[in-house]
Amino acid sequence: MRVSVETDKCCGAGQCVLVAPEVFDQRDEDGVVIVLDEAPPAEVHASVTEAAQLCPAAAIALS
Ligand code: SF4
Repeated sequence: MRVSVETDKCCGAGQCVLVAPEVFDQRDEDGVVIVLDEAPPAEVHASVTEAAQLCPAAAIALS
């Protein structure tokens, strides 16, 4: 799994950080998403997939 984000779409809602804190964080200054692990291990794939589905801005892309 590869994780990428479109930071210009991100509205800083933080859903991804709540669901998959191992993989997502937010910038302190504006809340825009940061990817901590672009190739996360299998045990977090389900939560990363859920984060992508929950993101209100559809800013998370998985491949
Ligand atoms: S859930 Fe989406 S909009 Fe919210 S911080 Fe994460 S990437 Fe950004």
